[in-house]
Amino acid sequence: MTPEKGPSTGDATLRRRIKPWEFEIFFDPRELRKETCLLYEIKWGTSHNLWRNSCQNATKHAEINFIEKFTSERHFSPSVSCFINWFLSWSPCWECSNAIRNFLREHPNVTLVIYVARLFHHQDQQNRQGLRDLIISGVTLQIMTVSEYCHCWKNFVDYPPGEEVLWPRYPPLWKMYALELHCIILNLPSCLKISRCQHQPTLFSLALKNCHYQMIPPHILLATGLIQPSITWR
Ligand SMILES: [Zn+2]
Repeated sequence: MTPEKGPSTGDATLRRRIKPWEFEIFFDPRELRKETCLLYEIKWGTSHNLWRNSCQNATKHAEINFIEKFTSERHFSPSVSCFINWFLSWSPCWECSNAIRNFLREHPNVTLVIYVARLFHHQDQQNRQGLRDLIISGVTLQIMTVSEYCHCWKNFVDYPPGEEVLWPRYPPLWKMYALELHCIILNLPSCLKISRCQHQPTLFSLALKNCHYQMIPPHILLATGLIQPSITWR
């Protein structure tokens, strides 16, 4: 009988992995907890090796902690490209977006892809502009889908033996967040409403206006599975 698999004890990343309960609460799209968790992987040049680690917000936001740690520990050779993937439980606030843009401006050899579980204060116009500016400056910004949750669970979480495929199955709120991210990118009004009442589950709903139907490509609206194709009767 083969032993049940957890992350291998020979895995050098094991001590840097987070606990399953940490992943579950940080990346639950229904949870609006204050703290932010950042899981990151870094690849240099043509190397196939990835460096993985995580950080959280402390006195500074997680993104700032990453940038300060990364720039203080690494000597950048402008001739070596660097690929960074972030998996963030909250999207960057506008101040972090500015700091990320400055970081990328100073290190043009860095390519940054950011996956986010939730959009931080997504109706705040400064935050919305911050995300647009990030995209304009070359950052790829996406909402975490099932494949990113699966990837993070396998590569960043110290999951129990035999639970490699048992990443948390959350309701597919990422579809709503993905639609809202399109609104942000296209500079449209917010369509995602989040209502919080004490002792009640948080409510997520979509309020689409004409401008959303006109400006968001139909395949994106339909891909969410939240919008029914219109039927014309003759
Ligand atoms: Zn921030």
